Formats: sequence, structure tokens, C-alpha cells
Amino acid sequence: MAAQRVDIVEVGPRDGLQNEDRVLSVPERVELIDRAISAGIRRIEAVSFVNPRRVPQMAGAEEVMAEVRRLPGVSYIGLVLNRKGLDRALRAGVDEVNIAIPATDEFCRRNQGCTVEEMLAAYDDIARAAAADGMPVSVTVSTAFGCPFEGETEPERVVEIARRAADAGAVEIALADTIGVGVPRQVAELVRKVGGIAGGAGLRCHFHNTRNTGYANALAAHEHGVTVLDASVGGFGGCPFAPAATGNIATEDLLYMLHRSGVQTGIDLDAVSQTGTWLGTRLDKDLRPSWAARERSRDEHPAAARGAPETGPGASRPSLATLRGVFHCYSGGPWSPRWRRGETTPLAPGAARSPASAGRSVAIRPREHHLATAASTKHLFVTGGVAPVSGRV
Ligand code: MG
Repeated sequence: MAAQRVDIVEVGPRDGLQNEDRVLSVPERVELIDRAISAGIRRIEAVSFVNPRRVPQMAGAEEVMAEVRRLPGVSYIGLVLNRKGLDRALRAGVDEVNIAIPATDEFCRRNQGCTVEEMLAAYDDIARAAAADGMPVSVTVSTAFGCPFEGETEPERVVEIARRAADAGAVEIALADTIGVGVPRQVAELVRKVGGIAGGAGLRCHFHNTRNTGYANALAAHEHGVTVLDASVGGFGGCPFAPAATGNIATEDLLYMLHRSGVQTGIDLDAVSQTGTWLGTRLDKDLRPSWAARERSRDEHPAAARGAPETGPGASRPSLATLRGVFHCYSGGPWSPRWRRGETTPLAPGAARSPASAGRSVAIRPREHHLATAASTKHLFVTGGVAPVSGRV
């Protein structure tokens, strides 16, 4: 019988942000981490000690670690790929380090500039130094379910890497479907095989939802005994060196699935959902469709739940007050159902009520992704998903 509790490792501040075009400031990254912790997250991949020229989204890891709230019982994880990164992580005061070791050479070469064997040698060096400092090390076996360059990944190769990682002292092995190609049957097989050789190391899984199998894979992992799962608030993230990799599974949607299945996490779904909405505004991106966000939206806009049109003359008209914050807000122009079709509408300079949207263009999304309404002559467009926030205009 599957465990009734799952621990979530929130990877949004690192894995979630590293592939986003917009580079968040240090205070924004600190706020993201603080929000996650306030929601009940107790392990968080907070930073990455990699070359900031290669991954500028992760620059300033030391500053982030210096600014975050340090709470007892919360473990801050730093990703490292070499000894230099470990030294930075130790100085910055993370609680544990994670090392990514791809299962395929071509991905390893493009992502980390070396072969898998060379990465394993680097890991041995990191593991020894970390042990001398009492720093727990976990290993994420990336491309464990498939590689964007080499195709299928041999399970035996994953098992071998996991065994060598465990032998060298890893406290936890993560199986990562870096590009989202895995399916539940594959998850069951790999969890069984790796679980058998991991010794005292725990097992964690990391899924992407590229082909909409991420949550099924998470459930499969849980049902086969995995009690630690990675997820990223808002479903953001990908991999800068993995073509076509889309987002991680969203923390809020994973929580929804687990909680409704009677599995406890100790994390507040509403708080995570609100954080996802907030992060969407910071990244200036649509939230990926999320049941959690939709449910919240329907709670606040009952007409939408009854099937009333969201745009056009028959649209329900939520108050301005409930909409402010996730919308680009401006005035002028007639109400037009053509905005439902997906196009870009220029904002009139000076007409914007929100300084952030002044003079900018707004991409009108397909209906599922936006909600438009009119009040007097003011038109509000949601470009960050349908989750509302409260506030006053
Ligand atoms: Mg990922």
C-alpha cells in the first residue's frame, strides 16, 4: 500500500526559473522562496552554483542565500556541478547539495560540457569533499527516461549510475524525466530496479509534463513506494539545454491530486496556488492551465462556473476590484468579441491605468487562458491566467 504522506521538494526557484526568459531579481527570488516556505514547503531547491554566464537566471546565488529566511526544519538545496560549485555552496550555507548526472553522454556534453564518466568522476570528488564537511549530497540522474539527443535511455545505465552514486555516499537518488517522455509503466520499472540497489539512499522522482504524463508518472512513482517528489510552483521551468522540454509538474496540481487522494503533504494548496499566480506576473507569462487556479477562479467568479461566456457582450462582469493585479488594465475602445480569437492589441499610450502595461502590446490568448470583461469604458485583460487576486483599483 502506498504511503499516506509524500514530501515535496519545491524546485521552482532553481529548475523553474532557469529556463525563463525573464531573469528575476535577487529580492524576487527571495520572495518566491519565502512564499513557498510560508506555504509549508520544507525542502526547496533554492539556488544553483553554476556559471552565471551560462545560466544568468541563477546569478547571485550567494546573495539569495544571504537574504532568505532561515527557519528550523527547512532545508535549502543548492545545485552544484563541480568542486568549485560545492565550495561556493558550502560558503553560502546551504543545507544540502544536489548534483545532476545525466544518463546519456550527448546530453551531459551539451548540458555540462563533459561525458557521463567524467561527471561521475567529478561527483566522486564532490562527494568526498562534501562528506568531509558533513554536507548531505543527493544525486539527480537526468535523462533517466529518455534523451533529446540519444533517444531511449537504457534502464541498466540509470541503475549503474544510481549504484555508483549510492556507493559514493549519496543520501538520495532522484530519477529525472528531464524532457517529459516517460510513462507510468517505465516509472514503475525504473523505481523497482533502482530501489533495489540504492541501499540506504532514499528515492526521489522528478517529472516534466511535456506530454501530459507528468502527473500520471508522479502517481505511479508514489504507488510504487516513492515518498519524495519534485515539483515547481506554477509549472514553470524546462531545461535550457534540452530542446522541447516544457515545464516541471506544477506543485499546486500535484498537491491537488495527492490531497484529494488522501495523501498528506503538510503544504497549503491555496498558498502555493497564489504563489504560482504571483510568479506568473513576475515572469510576465501565462500560467499553464491549472485545476487549482481554475478552481480558485470559479470560487470568485461563480458565473464562469455556470458556463456564462467569459468574453463578449454576454460576459459576466467581475468587479474591477477582484481583478486588479494579474491584468493589464487600460481604458478606451469598444468592447469587442474579436479579442477572443488570439491576436495582439496595442495599448494606447497614456490610457493604461497600470504603469507596467503603458504603451505595451497585449497578446490576447485563447479563451481558456484569458478572461476579459468590461466595466464602463475600462477593459481588463488577463494575460497571466485566470487566477484572480484581490485588491482595489
Ligand atoms: Mg526539471
